[in-house]
Amino acid sequence: MISLQETHLDEIRRHGERDYPFECCGLMLGRFAEGRKVVVETYPISNAREEEAKRNRFLIRPEELMRGEKFARGKGLDVVGFYHSHPDDRAIPSQYDLEHAWPTYSYIVVSVEQERAVDLRSWEMENDRSRFNEEEIVIVSEARP
Ligand SMILES: [Zn+2]
Repeated sequence: MISLQETHLDEIRRHGERDYPFECCGLMLGRFAEGRKVVVETYPISNAREEEAKRNRFLIRPEELMRGEKFARGKGLDVVGFYHSHPDDRAIPSQYDLEHAWPTYSYIVVSVEQERAVDLRSWEMENDRSRFNEEEIVIVSEARP
């Protein structure tokens, strides 16, 4: 289960629409609490891949991830998940996504069709890395302190 504020979902949707027809990606910073992830803020990252590959693959450079983790730690937060967009495709993780994911984190995928975010879902990997399971998104009015 992951909880976010409506503004976080908007930020992710807008980022996906802005980078269309390319994939956008970013981090979700927050806390692991009682079996759920609480997002406190989003951290947009540019897509590291080359132009033609940007359409169907996302990759976060290790140095960008480290910068995001450092930024999060400076605020007493953790990286709790990742988000990226699927331009003109469903909000379901691809085989590539499965092969490049880690357990525990949340993976939000936003479907962007013709520059409009039309669907957004969150996924968590099975511990044996065999598949993603859809995760419940809880919208809170304000992050808990
Ligand atoms: Zn993907």
